[in-house]
Amino acid sequence: MRAVVWEGKNKVQVSDVPDPQILNPHDAIVKVCLTAICGSDLHLYDGDVPTMKPGDVLGHEFMGEVVETGPEVKNLAKGDWVVVPFAIACGRCFFCERELWSACDNTNPNAWIADTAYGYSGSGLFGYSHMYGGYPGGQAEYVRVPFADVGPIKIYEDVRDEQVLFLSDIFPTGFMAAENCNIQPGDTIAVWGCGPVGLLAMKSAFMLGAERVIAIDRVRSRLRKAAEDCRAETINCAEVDVLEALKEMTGGRGPDACIEAVGMESHGVGVEHLYDRARAALMLETDRPLPLREAIHACRKGGTVSVPGAYGGLIDKFPIGAAFGKGLTLKMGQTHVHKYMRLLLDKIRRGDIDPSFVITHQFPLGEAPRAYRMFREKSDDCVKVVMKP
Ligand SMILES: [Zn+2]
Ligand SMILES: [Zn+2]
Repeated sequence: MRAVVWEGKNKVQVSDVPDPQILNPHDAIVKVCLTAICGSDLHLYDGDVPTMKPGDVLGHEFMGEVVETGPEVKNLAKGDWVVVPFAIACGRCFFCERELWSACDNTNPNAWIADTAYGYSGSGLFGYSHMYGGYPGGQAEYVRVPFADVGPIKIYEDVRDEQVLFLSDIFPTGFMAAENCNIQPGDTIAVWGCGPVGLLAMKSAFMLGAERVIAIDRVRSRLRKAAEDCRAETINCAEVDVLEALKEMTGGRGPDACIEAVGMESHGVGVEHLYDRARAALMLETDRPLPLREAIHACRKGGTVSVPGAYGGLIDKFPIGAAFGKGLTLKMGQTHVHKYMRLLLDKIRRGDIDPSFVITHQFPLGEAPRAYRMFREKSDDCVKVVMKP
């Protein structure tokens, strides 16, 4: 079959790879009909994630048709149409039982690598390095889905593929980021980053009762999207001082909650950013946390800072004093996708939200190298790319 494979830093290509096989009684094989490139795929593309090997199949956002099931898969059958969560969970361990699906203890055969770095490993992930299990991803014609009786949800003809594809990751991720803010009626939520997750966090914040959403980014086209598609007020952080602007917009008090949807690849301006770049170059600091610091400084006393943006290593100059002094709640982590898929599918079917508004570009899978380049450079106002095998 054809698949998008990682060949090294800034190099992906479409190659012939062996067809996936049922290896375990709980597996299914899914024929992919739609897949997407995620912001976190850029961390792989940029060569920032260790334990990638040339030839690894990429992709963790995909959906398609079940073409084969292992003997223990009772709830899916050949011909079913499914969306698959990016985190692989067993459904039976201590963490799965507590709905902490992305912390599953049983799905990462290479857990020792993450154990060494973090003390504990999270679940296995599709198409996301050997440190997370080395599972071939879904930017391919076919994919093996382990624990297929636990993760995938069935969808029916009343929804379009583009509407439900993002149940695999970014919609639950944006929603969990907003849910983590413990939003009360009348709240003002500030969101750093108008990428796909940030935009879906804004929509989710309104769905959960926020009165105002303030979007922060440096890319004009993305700010426009936040304003037009998500009813957000906007701050261009390349033009104004974000902390001053937020203060002014909230009567001096600060937003009730702040969502940091940028993560470790943030582009900053000014001295602080150069300091981070220099520290990262010297390997003293691996992630560049300007928006995170800003979110902590901006948030009102007793508020919440929610972090869906991905971090992988260490940061310094973390304003723990400000966070402590204001009594902030910090919430973060890999999304527990399984917990949200059905709830959010219902919202899509009821017409409360159509997540396909984030899609700006569609390519055939064969043009993946061009799609990655465009998504990386954010050229042609690119926000989200989907690909059809
Ligand atoms: Zn993703
Ligand atoms: Zn588990």
